[in-house]
Amino acid sequence: MLVQVSRDLQQQLVLLHVSAEQPAMQFPEIWLRDNCRCPKCYMKQTRSRLPHGWNYLDPTVRLQEISWCAEQQTLQIEWSDDHQSSYPISWLQERDFSQANRARYLRAYYRPEQRHWSGQQYELIRREFQYQELLESDEALLQWLHHLAVYGLALVKQAPLEEDVLRKLCNRVGFMRRTTYGDEWSVRAQPGASNYAYLAAPLPLHTDMPYFEYKPGVTLLHTLQQSDSPGGWNLLTDAFHVADLLRQRYPSSFHVLSQTPVDWADIGSDKELSFHNIWRAPVINLDANGRYVRINHSIPQRDSHFSVPADQVRPWYEAMAVFIRLANEQACTFKTAPGDVLTFDNLRMVHGRTGYDDTDHNVRHILGAFVDWDIAYSRWRVLKNALGHYK
Ligand SMILES: [Zn+2]
Repeated sequence: MLVQVSRDLQQQLVLLHVSAEQPAMQFPEIWLRDNCRCPKCYMKQTRSRLPHGWNYLDPTVRLQEISWCAEQQTLQIEWSDDHQSSYPISWLQERDFSQANRARYLRAYYRPEQRHWSGQQYELIRREFQYQELLESDEALLQWLHHLAVYGLALVKQAPLEEDVLRKLCNRVGFMRRTTYGDEWSVRAQPGASNYAYLAAPLPLHTDMPYFEYKPGVTLLHTLQQSDSPGGWNLLTDAFHVADLLRQRYPSSFHVLSQTPVDWADIGSDKELSFHNIWRAPVINLDANGRYVRINHSIPQRDSHFSVPADQVRPWYEAMAVFIRLANEQACTFKTAPGDVLTFDNLRMVHGRTGYDDTDHNVRHILGAFVDWDIAYSRWRVLKNALGHYK
């Protein structure tokens, strides 16, 4: 490769020109010094910068000499602190600071771009995966995780009606996320239930466990028995799409729901463990770029404590009424069959079910478990790498 080296002295950038057609790759000089690849600065074995690096890094260090070694295809730099660095072209190409390259890296390695969808688009984004294939094929496992990341919903079919299905599926990803309700839980109508979800009444749209700062990322629901009564339908809405609608049509409601902290709480006990969980956060949670991080919504788990000034209360209820109306309008509905494992992004989707008649002859039995997104994305990246999807 023929590479021409130049500098932008004003912005203290090193520019590498590979071809006349492409814009030059750009690298801040201070970043190059910090990321020297020599054995004093970088440990290959741990793939990490050596600790002395930043402690001794002096931001006044300046680039003295720069050259291109055509033989080794490396950028050579001499610094004002008498240090010499050498950077392979392939390493530099991966880290080019141009907007296009940063976007490419984030899509390929960080997370795939999420696509928000309306209730009417459900049939278009609906995709089924076969349980046994997910256990046996890494390619299938990757496709499932990818679909779940992009659309927030994926249906796994043909799982056996056995108790260890969720365990096996979670172990393929990494491991289960344990919560105050244990590793796995069972949803069926129980007399004197301690949790609203354990009743046969309709379950309005909600996210699971909004009262955790570290809210479980992916919910998995395995249908063991399905009610023959006309009820028991699943309801699911992409709440990021609902947030998009609010942003466009009801900007003041969007503002209120993204800025007003709500007290989410769960107080009680399950088996031996007593718990008192509280997390304060808005319904729509945004990052510094205004992107959605997470949705919180659960009517039974919204505390009667509402720790905001009194004048913020009525505007919040009015905005929430709009959110709930849109979430119900945008819901897709279907009824899972025994052997289905419904998997969805619990930071993004709100889910619920219609009521059903629960009698001795008409039982609905669902097992549930969680996996965290950190673990799911890690598996997604490892599989992409192993299967050569980065090449
Ligand atoms: Zn070095």
